[in-house]
Amino acid sequence: MKASEAIKLLKEGNLRFVNHKLENLTKGIIDCDHLVHGQNPFAAIVGCSDSRVPTEMIFDTRLGDLFIIRNGGSVANRTQIASVEYAVLKLNLELIVVLVHQNCGAVQAAVEYEYVSENMDYMLRQLRALVHETEDKSIENITKLNAFKSIENLMQKSKIIKTKVEEGNVVIVPAYYEISTGQVYFL
Ligand SMILES: [Zn+2]
Repeated sequence: MKASEAIKLLKEGNLRFVNHKLENLTKGIIDCDHLVHGQNPFAAIVGCSDSRVPTEMIFDTRLGDLFIIRNGGSVANRTQIASVEYAVLKLNLELIVVLVHQNCGAVQAAVEYEYVSENMDYMLRQLRALVHETEDKSIENITKLNAFKSIENLMQKSKIIKTKVEEGNVVIVPAYYEISTGQVYFL
């Protein structure tokens, strides 16, 4: 599916979610026999693990529609980049969305800087670098910058993704989920 069509589906699904008119999510496992034999999602989402941002729900999608990579802070490290490579190479996805959100705990942790463990430090490194180099250290600003930073990482650290984007076969877009309204804003 073309990226423009995939974005349209996501926007329409989010509108249904915001308006309490879910169509796809309520179908559950009805009519999903075909999924046993393989997947054919229409978009990949790099998002946050936050329980308030359940990806399929906020876009009102069916089983098999979205290829989702979640972690604390929607960062793009090696594992996330490898997953996106799989999405564009093996699943032929043309749309990648980096989805960040309002009041992200990972961003807050990066701003407040507290060393917890080597692993968490690795995960938060991308966010902490942004905090360090940015004047406006508000959670919202760092969060939105982080979406662009993840896109930069996907491009700079993967020849596969960079080539696909440069050839016009893949589009990567940043988006911001507002917890208070349920609205997704494509940045
Ligand atoms: Zn978060």
